[in-house]
Parts: sequence; C-alpha cells; structure tokens
Amino acid sequence: MSYVDEVIEQVVAQNPAEPEFHQAVKEVLESLRAVVEANEEVFRRDALLERLVNPERQFKFRVPWVDDKGQVHVNTGYRVQFNSAIGPYKGGLRLHPSVNLGIIKFLGFEQIFKNSLTGLPIGGGKGGSDFDPKGKSDREIMAFCQSFMTELCKYIGADTDVPAGDIGTGAREIGYMFGQYKRIRGLYEGVLTGKGLSYGGSLARTEATGYGLLYFTDEMLKCNGKSIKGATIAVSGAGNVAIYAIQKAQQLGAKVVTASDSTGWIYDKDGIDVELLKEVKEVKRARLTEYAAARPSAEYHEGRGVWSIPVDIALPCATQNELHLEDAKQLVANGCYAVAEGANMPTTLEATEYLQKNGILFAPGKASNAGGVATSALEMSQNSERLSWTFEEVDGKLQNIMVNIFHNLDDAAKRYGMEGNYVAGANIAGFEKVVDAMTAQGIV
Ligand code: GLU
Repeated sequence: MSYVDEVIEQVVAQNPAEPEFHQAVKEVLESLRAVVEANEEVFRRDALLERLVNPERQFKFRVPWVDDKGQVHVNTGYRVQFNSAIGPYKGGLRLHPSVNLGIIKFLGFEQIFKNSLTGLPIGGGKGGSDFDPKGKSDREIMAFCQSFMTELCKYIGADTDVPAGDIGTGAREIGYMFGQYKRIRGLYEGVLTGKGLSYGGSLARTEATGYGLLYFTDEMLKCNGKSIKGATIAVSGAGNVAIYAIQKAQQLGAKVVTASDSTGWIYDKDGIDVELLKEVKEVKRARLTEYAAARPSAEYHEGRGVWSIPVDIALPCATQNELHLEDAKQLVANGCYAVAEGANMPTTLEATEYLQKNGILFAPGKASNAGGVATSALEMSQNSERLSWTFEEVDGKLQNIMVNIFHNLDDAAKRYGMEGNYVAGANIAGFEKVVDAMTAQGIV
C-alpha cells in the first residue's frame, strides 16, 4: 500500500468519529501523492506524514459560566497546537454549538498549510468551544470569555500561541478575552489578534479575510483571461468574511446578489446593500429577515438555496461542507465559471471534484481565505515593534500576499504537471515549506 494510503487509513482508525478531520487529511494527502512518492524513502523513515497528522499538543478543558438568571452552564473548551515548524501556533477560536475535537483538528490541520502559504512565520493551531453565542447578553458573553481565557491563558503567549477570531468570535469576544489574559498573566502583549484599534489591533484586520478573498480571486481570474468587473456573484454567509467579500467585490465592479445565515438566505436582484447588511448583522445581531424587510428588491427564503441562483462566480463564506455535489451541479449548469472559498472547507470533496472536472476555476480556502490570518501576522509584527501601520500600508501588504499566494500555488501545480489544479498547488506549496522546516529541526 502507498505511504499516503497507509497514513490516511491510520488517521481514520486512530481518530474515530472525526469525519471533518478525515476529510481535511484526505484532501491534503491525496494531492501530495506525487511529492510524497518522489521522497518516499526519506519521508517514511522520518515518519514525516505521521508527524504531520498528529497535533504536537491538544488541550480540552471545562468552561463553567453563570448566566443572567444565576444558572451555571458548562461548556467544553479546546486548543489544538498542531504544528510549530515555521512559527508560533496561530489560528482562530470558533464558538459554535457544532464545535468538537474533530472540527478543531480539521481547522488546525488546514491552518498549518494556510499559514505556510502566507509566507509569514506562523505555525498552525485552532481552538474554540461548543458555547453558542446566539441570543446571549453581553454580560453572558463576557462571563463565558473570561472563564474560557482563565484556562486558555496557561497555554498561549505572544511567542508561543496566538489565537484570534473565527465563527462566533469577533471584536467583542477578543476584547473580553484580552482583558482577562492581561489580568491573569500581567502581560500586555500581542497574545491575540483581531484586537480593537485602541488596544493594539491592526487597521484592515476586520476587512482582511473578505478583501483577501477578492484579491486572490481577481488575480486567479486575470491569469485565466477573465475579470471580476461586471460579474454576478453569489455569496453565502453574512458574517465577517461574507460582509467584506461583498464590499470588495462591489468595489471591483461586480454585483453580489445573495447572502445567507443559519436560518435562511436572501436574493437581492439589485445587489446587496452592504451598509444595511452590516447594520442588521454587526450592529443589531439580527436575522436576514430584517434585511429583506428593509429592502424592497430583496426576497427572503427559509433554508438553504444561494447556489440555485445563476451567477458567474460563487464565494462560499459560511462554514464547512455547505456546498454539496447537487449545488456544484446546479452552479455548472447555470454557467458559473469560478468558485473561491472564503470559509474553511465549505465545499465537500465530491463537489470539489465535480467542479474541477467541469473546468471551473476552483480556489481552496486555505489559499483564498488566508488574508485574515496573514493580516493577523501583520498585527503581530506591529505589536512587536509597538507601532501601528496605516490602512493603506496593511491593505497594500495584504494585496501583495494574496497575489503571491496565487502565483506560488499556480507554480507548484505546474511543477507537478497539474496545471490549473489549485487545490493540489496550495497543498504542495504549503507542505513544501513546512516539510523543509520540520526536516531541518530534526525529529521533534
Ligand atoms: N480564523 C481565521 C482563519 O480561519 C483567522 C485566524 C487568525 O487570524 O489567526 O484563518
């Protein structure tokens, strides 16, 4: 049996009931086959793939907190420190009821390659909790965040592990967590990114994932003789990634006609009004029904359905496995020519394969959504030198990073005879740097 297949089998056997982790490992290892075969003897001897798929360390802890009525709740907190070959562990904290160890491991594993692709010195990690922020008061959110950080603060630090936001963790949560870290550890340091501007945050970090997605997509389209200008786009999600993806797409001359949340989706034939969307989602923390109620050109639909709208480009920006095979078929049938992932692993393996087989330009999240974590690394640099850069400076660096990521993975795919396969290109380019660093550092 090939080394890749052996390790995939081991991962499935040794990590039962973690389907998302299996999926992420399969996607990466399958596309590394050629690289692994070319180095099989050394990789096997060094158990390189086994070391890659086993986190360096993982924490699971109790998070008790008291709600506004005095009732105590207990959630589970996680931090997986996956790989520190190229820098301190870096990756977000997801707060969502679906969170379990397998989800955090899939995200942490993806993060290794994503962070490597940015070209910046950051290792891979991820954390979070099954806490559901929906419907909680500010005080309850603070109670949870403080309890979560009371435990997490033992394992993180500006030079060891630097968490950030993800689904359910935004500026408010990062603020509460930062305050608690400082209070317990007595350190005013860049231990978290995505901070507010008044206490060490970076300009353009809020916009970075969505903007970066569009900078990447723009470069991918240009290099394939196409353009964002004038395109019609479907976006899923209505969180931080989706909002700024929509904004940048519009600035680049596209029309974005959809958005979605956990209960339904909107089709706005005149193009999404980003200011209204921000008001509904960021300020009021309300449902998309409120957007539709305030906007005559918009229709609200319950359930899922954004991929049924005929568009040129699809940008899944909600969550994992939200774009299924049937959606992929529908997009292709409707003439869509590009899919770029804003979320982490939003496209199922079958859907990805179908899109690629049908000649759709497909950008994997670990490349196309890397702008968020890249800008987090820029926030770390600013914190270390105790300076803040201007919006233009950060945004300019972000643009360069995204353009470079595209060319690195495009080159990597070509080198291995898989031109246009950006999934393989991203995995290979991300892997090469990590392997080089792991090999140089010996068996650790
Ligand atoms: N959660 C984001 C991601 O998936 C950002 C992580 C970070 O900024 O550290 O990459």
